[in-house]
Amino acid sequence: MTAPILPGATIGILGGGQLGRMMAMSARSLGYRVQVMDPDPSCPARFVVDSCFEGTWDDARAAASLARGCDVVTLEIEQIALASLIAAQRFAPVRPGLALMGVIQNRITQKNWLAEHGLPIAPFAAIHSLDDLSQAVAGLGTGLFLKSASGGYDGRGQSHITSSSPEELVHAWHSLGMQSCVAEQAIPLHMEISVMVARSPQGEIRAYPSARNHHENQILVWSVLPSSIPLELENTAQSLAIRIAEELNLEGLLAVEMFIAESGELLVNELAPRPHNSYHASERACETSQFEQAIRAVCGLPLGEVDILRPAAIANLLGDLWLNHDPQFDRALAVPGVHLHLYEKHQPRKGRKMGHLSASGKTPEQAVERVLTAIQEL
Ligand code: ADP
Ligand code: MG
Repeated sequence: MTAPILPGATIGILGGGQLGRMMAMSARSLGYRVQVMDPDPSCPARFVVDSCFEGTWDDARAAASLARGCDVVTLEIEQIALASLIAAQRFAPVRPGLALMGVIQNRITQKNWLAEHGLPIAPFAAIHSLDDLSQAVAGLGTGLFLKSASGGYDGRGQSHITSSSPEELVHAWHSLGMQSCVAEQAIPLHMEISVMVARSPQGEIRAYPSARNHHENQILVWSVLPSSIPLELENTAQSLAIRIAEELNLEGLLAVEMFIAESGELLVNELAPRPHNSYHASERACETSQFEQAIRAVCGLPLGEVDILRPAAIANLLGDLWLNHDPQFDRALAVPGVHLHLYEKHQPRKGRKMGHLSASGKTPEQAVERVLTAIQEL
């Protein structure tokens, strides 16, 4: 039986962005010491941790330096190189787990794993050349999403193909840097949801109620808990997430993004082995936030309850909001039920996630309405 890592111990986080920062804040509340590794010495987590090691995702030496002083190491981003994880593992257990990371890190490996395990996914093909892409269009049809095998997020590293014209295919192939990628059939979507699941090294497992996610231009705009989908679909979504977490021997958090197609079919989109933007509302809505749950899971503590106490929504604050003038936070905070979460990123850029607003409500609809009203006030 794995012994729990108790408060007072030191947790290392690979990646010091907003997810690392919010995990670190929860860890501190629980009485842990925290250190992070990030390429940017003034990363968002910097301001809430004991120490920050400078290192890129493939800097195995920096990962080892971080792990040397830690009782357990976790991560906030899936792009950490396997060699870095292996280097860290020499000094402390690395959770959510190396084998799982090997599967998830690369979109092709991840899709193959999902397909081999009989999980419902959109038809796809692995692409290594322009020739592969032409064949994929012939096989899958022209409505395609082309996604880089590694490194993509928030729709970056993606191209939406809408015709089979050779020019469009060449353009898409070049725009992704002529690197290996996945071509996936574009699915007419009824709704996007996600299910967060936590599993401890002792094997305790819990799935959160699903979140409903609204994307625009492939980036999450708002998200709400609960999703209010029909119970039967909810149960299916939760069992899929639990099955995936168990088969991958998860030790930590896993967010399972899913599509509900217009046909009613439930499809797994992608996996993220860490806290997820779509569960930021768990801080307001749930008995245990995803950040506290991440710490409990990687430390082998009993997992917290995941029940929804009241509906809550979040909306992302992108750098675009800073372009003309500083956002008027006082006006947003005057909207009932609204709270502000800023990540202390010092350079607003178009499309960069600078923070989010959260809002509780009597109903999920009211929570969304409040958070969107507050954004308008900025
Ligand atoms: P990432 O979140 O890593 O950028 P995703 O694969 O989750 O990449 O794609 C981002 C968003 O793009 C999805 O949440 C969805 O809105 C849209 N999208 C991606 N793939 C498809 C698809 N096959 N059909 C329809 N929409 C898609
Ligand atoms: Mg996604």
